[in-house]
Amino acid sequence: MAAVPRAAHEPDAHAGHVHHVDPAELVPLERYRQHVLGRILPLEPVALDLLEAHGCVLAEDVVAAADVPAFVNSAMDGYAVRAGTTVDGADLELVGEIAAGAGRLVDPGPGQAVRIMTGAPLPPGADAVVPVEVADEADGRVRLRAVPRAGENVRAAGEDVRAGATVLSAGRRLGAADIGLCATVGRARVLVRPRPRVVVMSTGDELAEPEGPLAAGQIRDSNSYTLTALARETGAVASRRAIVPDDHGALTEAFDGVAARADVLVTTGGVSAGRYDLVKRVLAEMGDVRFSKVGMQPGMPQAFGFVSGRSARPLACFGLPGNPVSAYVSFEVFVRPALRLLQGRRDLQRPMVTAVLDEAVRSPEHKVSFLRVALHRADDGWRARPTGAQGSGLLTSVVAADGLAEIPADRTSVDAGEPVVVHLLVDPT
Ligand code: AMP
Ligand code: MG
Repeated sequence: MAAVPRAAHEPDAHAGHVHHVDPAELVPLERYRQHVLGRILPLEPVALDLLEAHGCVLAEDVVAAADVPAFVNSAMDGYAVRAGTTVDGADLELVGEIAAGAGRLVDPGPGQAVRIMTGAPLPPGADAVVPVEVADEADGRVRLRAVPRAGENVRAAGEDVRAGATVLSAGRRLGAADIGLCATVGRARVLVRPRPRVVVMSTGDELAEPEGPLAAGQIRDSNSYTLTALARETGAVASRRAIVPDDHGALTEAFDGVAARADVLVTTGGVSAGRYDLVKRVLAEMGDVRFSKVGMQPGMPQAFGFVSGRSARPLACFGLPGNPVSAYVSFEVFVRPALRLLQGRRDLQRPMVTAVLDEAVRSPEHKVSFLRVALHRADDGWRARPTGAQGSGLLTSVVAADGLAEIPADRTSVDAGEPVVVHLLVDPT
């Protein structure tokens, strides 16, 4: 493979530091992901009001109890007539009117017409509707300018849905039209997998809230905001907690308070090799949470497991690394699929496209790397261009990205012109 020059603008995941990681210590990304997802079960179904259920996955089949529409009705504003008895140019006697929602029906006899509105029940004697546009009404009479044919402008009972039909199947994620269809068949509540309750916490002595002065050495906590927003985009009910310092007692107390009230805890920081990286220790003390070095970049140090606490259902804990891009990528790789699984979804990943790289890139040995790329469309398909420097602290490189290009673990560089798989970040759901 051609040597790739190191230019200042060139994205290089290694730039500026050397990792002393024994490859034997690394858990391959896919194996780790399977381990995590293999321990997550969908949440128990609950009955929710329709609009609350929007975006949730059905846990029952929705069956229509009756025909939709339930009665034969007019598809147009016009005149209900008996087709067989009426010819072109016929001059009919107007004998009444039927509005939408009318309970009392007027039947037209031969040589008669009944004014009728869209959606109004067709009287039993009529079999066609002549639209107002092709009829002239004056002085109690209706003159037709077209020959009505039987069945014309008439909607049959059950033409949308037949009584007894399964209109939506368990496993389906409810979109807007699905919600409408549930209402159509008379369902105000449906059984769905609920939205996971997620609590997000940033940890670190250096962190400060977005408002107020920054003391020497402090930085703003961005991770808890990014991750809470990501969890919400993934369908969770997510809340952000105050910053927790790198202190054993404070971490224990903060985590303990979450166990009974959430399904998932997401923390950032404190899982690397530093002296004050206490998160992994505290989580391990509280439950079955283990720390791993995963063969990915960014996002190598990961903690995952369960804390039992006082609730019946154990709390799933994700201890993500603190660098903002590492935290973001870790969410995409592990937390998003886990949140989708909890919701009963089977599509666990973001949509992906194959794109051709505009520039050569390097990738670390033994690790899958995720490169922030902007996509653009060329004549022959999608093209991907790295969004500048790829350091794991550079949140602006994520803001500029349309996707994450996944470079396989066995590659240390990819040439310009080679295809890569890109996970699209543009679809918020
Ligand atoms: P850690 O994983 O705790 O070793 O943190 C790694 C890097 O990410 C350090 O430079 C931290 O200052 C930074 N960092 C940690 N937590 C956050 C956060 N919540 N928001 C922004 N940066 C953070
Ligand atoms: Mg830290």
